[in-house]
Amino acid sequence: MDIIRTIAEMQATSRNWLREGQTIALVPTMGFLHEGHLSLVDHARRNGTRVVTSIFVNPMQFGPTEDLERYPRDEQGDLKRLEERGNHAVFLPGPTEMYPNGFETYVETEHLPQHLCGLRRKGHFRGVTTIVSKLFNAVLPDVAVFGEKDYQQLLVIRRMTVDMNFPVRILSAPTLREPDGLAMSSRNTFLSPEERIAGSSVYKALQLAREAVAKGENDAIRIRELMMQTIEQTGGRVDYVAVVHPDSLDELELVQNRAHAAVAAFFGNTRLIDNLRLLG
Ligand code: AMP
Repeated sequence: MDIIRTIAEMQATSRNWLREGQTIALVPTMGFLHEGHLSLVDHARRNGTRVVTSIFVNPMQFGPTEDLERYPRDEQGDLKRLEERGNHAVFLPGPTEMYPNGFETYVETEHLPQHLCGLRRKGHFRGVTTIVSKLFNAVLPDVAVFGEKDYQQLLVIRRMTVDMNFPVRILSAPTLREPDGLAMSSRNTFLSPEERIAGSSVYKALQLAREAVAKGENDAIRIRELMMQTIEQTGGRVDYVAVVHPDSLDELELVQNRAHAAVAAFFGNTRLIDNLRLLG
């Protein structure tokens, strides 16, 4: 497995592969890899002949009061897991490789970030779209794989890819969960044993919302209350619960055709997010 730390070497490697007729599939991550990330690598292997996983904890997508400094890292463990999974190259740039002195160019979607996490984390999606653009230009992928776990991010990346004419096919992969339903996340490592148990209420809330809709509930206010109560009962602090249109992310009043639920909640200092299709 190639371990590549500079943009120039990454581009040279990818150009060689493309000349050989390989197809390159990129899996962007922030590392501390778990089975959810590795399932994206599996998906990438099915959709390309060379898989590049990037590991970069992107300072630009963290707010000033967020957990950049304590974000978990395990480079050696990540490399071992990727090698075992048949990944071909790891792109591991440092912060000054991606943002050298004088950096001042950004890629930003306008409307999609005005919802859900974008309202709570100002500048977050601008950081995401800027780094993913840079990763596309460094890795030159034919395909890139993103998790449905970060549903708003997936929509933002799809929009950006179309709008900026990146010649990259965006694929999504389903959320991998722990046995009690908690979505796998690098941040789960921060949870105390009590918070870890309470954290499973996020998925329970989403499931209850879907069941309510299946039984005919169509009032989005009542569905939001149901989700809120389910999480607060366990001691979780809700950041938002939302029932939205799956494409525009506009809040719904009535669930009639297509609808998606999204949740962010704090357990202690750890913010967990999850989402689920309710209808359509
Ligand atoms: P992150 O390292 O958190 O930035 O995530 C990197 C990629 O892995 C993103 O596309 C995420 O949506 C995806 N991902 C994170 N958690 C999961 C999960 N539990 N199941 C599937 N994909 C995930």
